[in-house]
Amino acid sequence: DESAGASVREGRVTTTDGRAVEVAANVGRPVEVDPAVERGADGIGLYRTEFLFLDRDAPPDEAEQMAAYRSALAAFPEGRVVCRTLDVGGDKPIPYLDLPESENPFLGERGIRRSLGPDADLFETQLRALLRAGAESGDDGGGEDADDETGAALGDLAVMLPMVSRIEEVESVLAVLESVASDLDSAGVPYAMPEFGVMVETPAAATLAGDLAERVDFLSIGTNDLTQYVMAASRGDERVAALHDPLYPAVLRTIRQTTRAADGTDCWVGMCGEMAGDPALTELLIGLGLDELSASVVTVPDVKARVSETDSEAARALAERALAAETVAEVREIVGIE
Ligand code: PEP
Ligand code: MG
Repeated sequence: DESAGASVREGRVTTTDGRAVEVAANVGRPVEVDPAVERGADGIGLYRTEFLFLDRDAPPDEAEQMAAYRSALAAFPEGRVVCRTLDVGGDKPIPYLDLPESENPFLGERGIRRSLGPDADLFETQLRALLRAGAESGDDGGGEDADDETGAALGDLAVMLPMVSRIEEVESVLAVLESVASDLDSAGVPYAMPEFGVMVETPAAATLAGDLAERVDFLSIGTNDLTQYVMAASRGDERVAALHDPLYPAVLRTIRQTTRAADGTDCWVGMCGEMAGDPALTELLIGLGLDELSASVVTVPDVKARVSETDSEAARALAERALAAETVAEVREIVGIE
């Protein structure tokens, strides 16, 4: 079993022909941060901030959130930590938020839709905490008055929005970000504007990827939800589990549509769905044009190993063949998996 074998690699990896591919980790709880470091992740490509809000009676305040984000940043002084804003609704209920019963929660009020609606206050608090957590991070630091008691170097903070399907959502969030920043300015509170990105996990976002890329620093493809929505097959429904496979041609072509839309722009494109953590798919994903792969913590070393064995040109040729395939069986054969 190759998928458990690779040894931990320190530092960044490139393909054999020198193309840098960032390999980050998906983290859902603070206890996973240290293992992500130990396994050689370049950073956190998806920090699911839901953990802060689960299993309690009231939401965390700004200070508690700031401390949580800072400790992740401190674990990756040379890396980037992508904090995804609260993604509730769908399969992720939170008792005190009074989420409405929905006949079809996955098509309901979830992710950014709640953050710009009933959870607007929580969203603003979270953004304040994120902007403050990023103060003194990265290369722009050096001030004495950071309230980071440790004084340790911090990585770069990025903020990412879940479940985006409209340009209007991005415009609204940019306005909220500006207003939060101007409040912090007026109050003389140190903060930093984070890198800003959106998840591509709805077909709408993939279709609009070029327009999104003009407005954000990065896109990160969430294949768990993207597959569910492209294939119209529920994530959790066993009866359609076979359809929930990102190797279906329709999903692969949607991924390529996304990376192509950002080609030639400054917007980088990552992937943080489970697909990114499968070492058997690393070459294909490089060929599809991904700049960053955020894998589950355990597979980070294997994905890094695969990156460093991959030739970009061969990967591109492999991806072209996979994109031309009409069935999932053909794709599997081309990629060389069972
Ligand atoms: C995804 O949908 O692919 C994703 C990474 O987000 P989550 O699994 O948390 O919905
Ligand atoms: Mg998702």
